[in-house]
Amino acid sequence: GKILVTGANGYIAVWVVKAFLDKGFFVRGTVRSESKAGHLRSLFKDFGDKFEVVVVEDITKDGAFDEAVVGVDAIAHTASPFHFKAVEPEELIVPAVHGTTGILASALKNAPSVKRIIVTSSCAAVLTPSPDPRVFSEEDWNEASIAEVKEKGKDATPIAKYRASKTLAERAAWDFWSKHKSEVGWDLVVINPPFVFGPFLHEADKPENLNESLRDWYETVVKGTKDKDALANLGSSYVDVRDLGLAHALAVTKEEASGNRIIVSAGPYKWQDFVTAAHKYYPNLPAGNTEYDPAKATHYLVYAPEKQQRLLGIKFRTLEETTKDTLDDFKARGWL
Ligand code: NDP
Repeated sequence: GKILVTGANGYIAVWVVKAFLDKGFFVRGTVRSESKAGHLRSLFKDFGDKFEVVVVEDITKDGAFDEAVVGVDAIAHTASPFHFKAVEPEELIVPAVHGTTGILASALKNAPSVKRIIVTSSCAAVLTPSPDPRVFSEEDWNEASIAEVKEKGKDATPIAKYRASKTLAERAAWDFWSKHKSEVGWDLVVINPPFVFGPFLHEADKPENLNESLRDWYETVVKGTKDKDALANLGSSYVDVRDLGLAHALAVTKEEASGNRIIVSAGPYKWQDFVTAAHKYYPNLPAGNTEYDPAKATHYLVYAPEKQQRLLGIKFRTLEETTKDTLDDFKARGWL
């Protein structure tokens, strides 16, 4: 079978491509310009003609994916902006929503061969920011960030703008599916990851140019940018990028995943958990907050693991494994 992966040059997407290639699939990746194709071609050169790249310049244009979808058996749509620099919420919302509905429309119009579409959503579309600790599940939707953006526009917090873009995009995918399910030969699976960390394969010449989540990890763990209070008290939930790549591949091969949104989380963390693990493997890195007691940490954003376990059954890498492998990767690049 052949899989179309959008935004194939992204941090997560490269691991998604690799997971499909490792399972024997052909992969067609989309990038926004030819300049982003070369790194991918050389990265996957051992797979020969099983990997190809096509350019889709502007995913917000009607029919943008009309050619890219032709002849594929499944689609993994990962392309979406993840940064906190937007002034107008629409800078994130328009590509997130139109990119998603656009690829579904192109599949409907031009790709009768497609059997399944995977959309990379986020726990940002699940959680509700709250001062109390809470366990969220696939039943939950982040209405709060949409409301904040509606009310405050460009004065909404950067994270609310991003979270609103992901919630609106995922909702648009399910709405499109409900409306067109009788006309199409595919079903929908949505993957909702929390923060994603782990070694990277995409193109980044220096740490400042890493994607949002891994750059934050690098600055915290390697550069020691967070104070002791933040290290012990700030955190969220996370998943290793390699496990998330596998999740996308399993979401295509596991029949029973059909029609589900699936949270893919390895568990909660405080930043000091990563700092402690890093200091163990690389004693030259900052020790951080040595008074922190993980047993006493209160985790505010926790996700129910059951659906992932039942439908995909991934056994997640440990936090120590993710930390060690990420640092080994940074070291090999001369970044430590
Ligand atoms: P990256 O920034 O590494 O990758 C984002 C990808 O989307 C790139 O290919 C990028 O292309 C493309 N993209 C961004 N903006 C646009 C746009 N306006 N038009 C077309 N393409 C665009 O981020 P990640 O790999 O981290 O993110 C991938 C997906 O995973 C996103 O959907 C994100 O929301 C989701 N996600 C990420 C999490 C994380 O912690 N990293 C957590 C949960 C979900 P280009 O390189 O040309 O800009």
